[in-house]
Amino acid sequence: MIIGVAAETCAGERRVALVPESIQRLIRKGVEVYVQTGAGAAAGFADEEFSRAGAQLVASPQALFGALDLMVKIHPPSCEDAEALRQGASLVCLLYARRNQDVIRRLAARNVSTFALEKLPRTTIAQAMDVLSSQSTAAGYRAVIVAAHALAKFFPMLMTPAGTIAPARVLVVGAGVAGLQAIATARRLGAVVEAFDVRPAVREEVASLGAKFIAAELEGPLETAEGYARELGDAAHARARAAIERALASADVCITTALLPDQRAPLLLTADMVRRMRPGSVIVDLAAEQGGNCQLTQPGKDIVHYGVTIIGRLHLAAEVALDASRMYSRNLEKLLDHLIRDGVLRFDASDEISHRCLVTHNGRIVDEELRRRLEERAEAAC
Ligand code: NAD
Repeated sequence: MIIGVAAETCAGERRVALVPESIQRLIRKGVEVYVQTGAGAAAGFADEEFSRAGAQLVASPQALFGALDLMVKIHPPSCEDAEALRQGASLVCLLYARRNQDVIRRLAARNVSTFALEKLPRTTIAQAMDVLSSQSTAAGYRAVIVAAHALAKFFPMLMTPAGTIAPARVLVVGAGVAGLQAIATARRLGAVVEAFDVRPAVREEVASLGAKFIAAELEGPLETAEGYARELGDAAHARARAAIERALASADVCITTALLPDQRAPLLLTADMVRRMRPGSVIVDLAAEQGGNCQLTQPGKDIVHYGVTIIGRLHLAAEVALDASRMYSRNLEKLLDHLIRDGVLRFDASDEISHRCLVTHNGRIVDEELRRRLEERAEAAC
């Protein structure tokens, strides 16, 4: 079986899906790996390292796509790249199917078996494969570094002959994987940190990292069976915003990470709330890709509004490309260990991981909700 590693073409992307040390281990298990020339360069992995690991370098993406049995990527392929994939090949990537419906149709038409990594179940067995968690960890860390760089103030308290400098105050909104890493990083830099989340379950985790949890009286149910937040009703949403606004008044930095599964990110910082922040403050909106938690965020851009810097960059994990690629690659290795049997990729419908993640297979869209949505769209267009 030939696994192909393509260069990522998305603007601002520097990561690579498989790194040389993973490739070496995969080859020992009996697969061949082809890597597009230069695929790891922006993450710090030279072509020679891939060759030394046993990979074959392929200069032309078209030749790579036509030869491989399994393509591994971070972002979904473009429509043209999907067309270039060999009939019957497989694809593993972050697919975000609802946003990439034209690509999905083409993948199904080319009889590609597509495995969407964002659909991995959050179970103990899938934890080591969970690219959402590993990349959120990288993004949460990077958000604090980016904020510290943009802020014209020290993070730690400093006692110097030139006077005592108060520590920076950081507010983290959303204390999931990215938020908790942001709290830990800001604490390590010496900031005073407060955090808010609708899930009361995170209160202890926040406290254990040395941050203060901001409580708001929210009536439930606030959490899904899978541990994700639910959308708040109007009254609870207003209370959540009020709690955030109180903490925002004294914050130098606000890092927002609040997400809801399969929905636009909740709008938690209004333009008016930003206007009342201290000039020179910094907001890093990690939810920018899902519409943003701040009303003023412009996805993909760093802007200044009312004197507040609002950072809406889309792929913050790609800014720590070396380690983020290593983590992604480790996750993929675990997944491929699970899916490859006797040197062949096997999609077993009775296996929860395959069942949950498979989006196209045998020339069809097998994700029922997505298929229904596409049929409805097609009918509406008639
Ligand atoms: P996420 O990225 O979906 O959301 C980020 C955070 O935003 C969450 O903590 C969520 O509660 C919060 N949020 C949503 N709406 C909000 C609002 N209106 N105001 C404030 N905060 C809001 O979540 P995630 O980081 O992927 O993690 C979700 C849960 O899944 C966590 O409990 C995490 O520990 C768990 N998890 C489990 C596994 C596993 O078992 N394999 C892996 C990763 C995460």
